[in-house]
Amino acid sequence: MFVDKVKVQIKAGDGGNGVVSFRHEKFIDRGGPDGGDGGNGGDILVVGSNSQNTLAKFRYQKEVAADPGKNGFKQKKHGRSGKSLRIDVPVGTIVATDAGIVLADLTSDGQEVVIAHGGHGGFGNAHFVSSRRQTPRIAEKGEPGESLIATFELKMIADVGLVGLPNAGKSTLLAVISNAKPEIADYPFTTLRPNLGVADIDESTSILVADIPGLIEGASEGKGLGDDFLRHVERTRVLVHLIDAYQDDLAAAYRTIQKELADYQVDLSQRPQIVALNKIDGLDDEMIAEYLNILRSVVPPGSPLVAISAQSGVGVKELLYELKTIIQRSEEVEEIEEDQKLPVLTLASTEDAWQVTKTEEGFVVSGSKIERFAQRTDFDSEAGIQRLRDIMRKLGITHELERVKIKSGNIIKIGTSSLKY
Ligand code: GDP
Ligand code: MG
Repeated sequence: MFVDKVKVQIKAGDGGNGVVSFRHEKFIDRGGPDGGDGGNGGDILVVGSNSQNTLAKFRYQKEVAADPGKNGFKQKKHGRSGKSLRIDVPVGTIVATDAGIVLADLTSDGQEVVIAHGGHGGFGNAHFVSSRRQTPRIAEKGEPGESLIATFELKMIADVGLVGLPNAGKSTLLAVISNAKPEIADYPFTTLRPNLGVADIDESTSILVADIPGLIEGASEGKGLGDDFLRHVERTRVLVHLIDAYQDDLAAAYRTIQKELADYQVDLSQRPQIVALNKIDGLDDEMIAEYLNILRSVVPPGSPLVAISAQSGVGVKELLYELKTIIQRSEEVEEIEEDQKLPVLTLASTEDAWQVTKTEEGFVVSGSKIERFAQRTDFDSEAGIQRLRDIMRKLGITHELERVKIKSGNIIKIGTSSLKY
């Protein structure tokens, strides 16, 4: 895992002071003590939140403080307590002290942990009245709120993989877009280490970008990278394919990398990709247009094609925006997939063909689409089976089964699965 880490100065509210005060009454020079207590300082809590996915805001706000308690008043009035401060952080965040003591390990949405306690308010002099002490002149000061430097840690997966021939500008781009260098934790890397950066697109969105070493340079067999890292590469949602505008043959440069991606242990050639023509700072508009045309002819129509200068920053914002769009789209797809346990497939006409054969074992239905559906059906779920039946009806299979005189309770075999009619 890769770990994003930020340090934040945390300061809970100080307690308010108690006060020394005496009643003012008609004809009485000095009445009894009536100084109220100070209010308590506000606590600081961290709250796990599924709607947060980044620690980015702490890169801009390095200090967090809760309100102090108000001082007490005369007439035994207590000072108002400071409001506690709740900080939303992504679920998965671990908060620790500088010494490494874990204060909070947020594993669920809505979970709250106090990481710094506000100071207690001090007692006013009214508190100290006793039979022996009728006119106390003492009052306590409020306690200071706890203060500490807290480390917030969040494990991240790499959303974006950077690929390109040597010298395409990968390291330059990574340096330009990243606000933070995440650490690499628990990875048994051998010789190659990924070069990583966190790009904060806005305060609620960060993407982890990995310049994946050895992806190219003849290392498609993944030499030197542990299996765990490959699994990581497998999860990147999108690749940025950088192409040096000074290459003699832009199309060939694109194809070289594309072939490497296909030969990689995990076939990455079908991964969503943004192709970025880099180093346009020295080119005029006509040349840029011409180069983009060349690339357009080899880049698949669905892949965005942008022109940037990693060095000067031209076009980099647009690139990040494209990345954000693609990542969000893939997150939506994942959510839908999680929501819907039933397989959802669109029926393309070509693979729809099926065949029903009557054998001694029962009725065998074959055909690539229907077999795939069957494979993805959860036979423990009535709804899942019902859906499979619906699909069979839709494809005309049911009709055919009835035509060959299937009876209720007969077994239908589809690929390796079977169900009762
Ligand atoms: P990598 O091998 O893909 O990591 O490429 P680097 O980031 O190390 O860049 C290779 C060379 O290209 C370096 O000398 C960079 O300064 C240069 N370079 C990278 N981006 C740009 C750019 O946008 N414009 C220009 N003119 N040079 C660049
Ligand atoms: Mg490099």
